[in-house]
Amino acid sequence: MQHFDVAVIGAGAAGMMCAAVAAQRGRRVVLIDHAQKLAEKIRISGGGRCNFTNRRVGPENFISANPHFCKSALAGYSPQDFIALMARYNIAWYEKHRGQLFCDRSSEDIIEMLRAECELGNVQWRMPCTVQQITRVETGSEGRYDLATSEGLLQAEKLVIATGGLAIPQLGATDYGLKIARQFGLKVVEPRPALVPLTFDGVQWAEFGELSGLALEANISTGTGRNAPEFLEDVLFTHRGLSGPGILQISSYWQPGEAIRLDLAPGQDMTAALLEAKSGGRQQLGNLLGGLWPKRLAEKWLGEQAALRVADAPDRLLRELGARIQGWSLIPDGTAGYKKAEVMRGGVDTKGLDQRSMQAKTVPGLHFIGEAVDVTGWLGGYNFQWAWASAVACGRSL
Ligand SMILES: Cc1cc2nc3c(=O)[nH]c(=O)nc-3n(C[C@H](O)[C@H](O)[C@H](O)COP(=O)(O)OP(=O)(O)OC[C@H]3O[C@@H](n4cnc5c(N)ncnc54)[C@H](O)[C@@H]3O)c2cc1C
Repeated sequence: MQHFDVAVIGAGAAGMMCAAVAAQRGRRVVLIDHAQKLAEKIRISGGGRCNFTNRRVGPENFISANPHFCKSALAGYSPQDFIALMARYNIAWYEKHRGQLFCDRSSEDIIEMLRAECELGNVQWRMPCTVQQITRVETGSEGRYDLATSEGLLQAEKLVIATGGLAIPQLGATDYGLKIARQFGLKVVEPRPALVPLTFDGVQWAEFGELSGLALEANISTGTGRNAPEFLEDVLFTHRGLSGPGILQISSYWQPGEAIRLDLAPGQDMTAALLEAKSGGRQQLGNLLGGLWPKRLAEKWLGEQAALRVADAPDRLLRELGARIQGWSLIPDGTAGYKKAEVMRGGVDTKGLDQRSMQAKTVPGLHFIGEAVDVTGWLGGYNFQWAWASAVACGRSL
């Protein structure tokens, strides 16, 4: 029997950070992971350079059934705090667009930094190690957790679940966090793939599938009402549907059966441009649109109309064309699923958790952090910032 103050299950972004914080505060911490290789998601993130945070982070960059829940943790550990930690390890970084911060060299630098932070606190590792059973044992007012694992029986006063979400099962992602939540009577917000390409009916999409590889900037929205989400980002045509940063962003909000709307000429007035060109005369519609838009897309979009002389095109046709380009509405038939998703949305319902410590309100000593919790960040470093911030909030409370 091995006894610890804290057992953390999941040695990814949130788990390592939490273990390090708690251990450096003097707690005896064991960190358990079933993977052979440490922190694979950090390693592959940001194309191998880990988009570790974003300069501008606020609750508006996160999706959750309770949008207020994330505020306290985010306020307690900012992007600047993480940058300061990296500075202590001389890790160089650079800013890409929209405040996204990446490692200069490699994601490995972040993994090694977190490993070193764990070493500083003398965190005990059990990896690879599977947890077969968790039992809560009541001992007076405190209680403890008994963990039956492939490395023997462990006991801990506090248990932190940091097993992440379901995205990329081929890297060992599991629904373990959700299972444990349910085991202890906590509610779970239905999990779904997010930051994921959207797919369309094969027959309907066949003609657009030929545009695979084409990218252009678009304004993308879904849903209705004043707060309907909207992103101005690149969209990429693929064989099965649409991808690219703009589609990944909107996919996190998209509800099955709903339409997404694309303005494929943001900042322009296509109808006015088409009508204006009419007076100039002799040009074919295909050449005109090909000058305003990617040529391949213009040809596909117009079909036989490409050969029409602009001067001969009825105003009604040009207006319809302009309106469709700037208000293309289409209903995805699904997503490319967890295999292609960057994150899972949904997860442990925040109503059951304390926002300062991430502790379950009804189960003393049981905490959930990181992606397992129903807080999902936008693309752009927000998911790691949530992993760091929720981990630090929890680690400080242990
Ligand atoms: C391809 C890709 C690229 C990404 N790029 C970025 C990016 O650039 N910026 C960004 O902010 N976010 C990015 N993300 C999202 C980000 O990686 C996650 O949101 C983040 O890693 C979540 O941290 P976590 O600690 O909660 O979970 P993870 O980092 O996934 O860690 C969970 C750990 O738990 C372990 N585990 C799971 N189940 C069990 C079990 N049953 N028993 C024991 N251990 C278990 C896993 O092995 C893993 O080590 C990317 C995701 C993907 C898939």
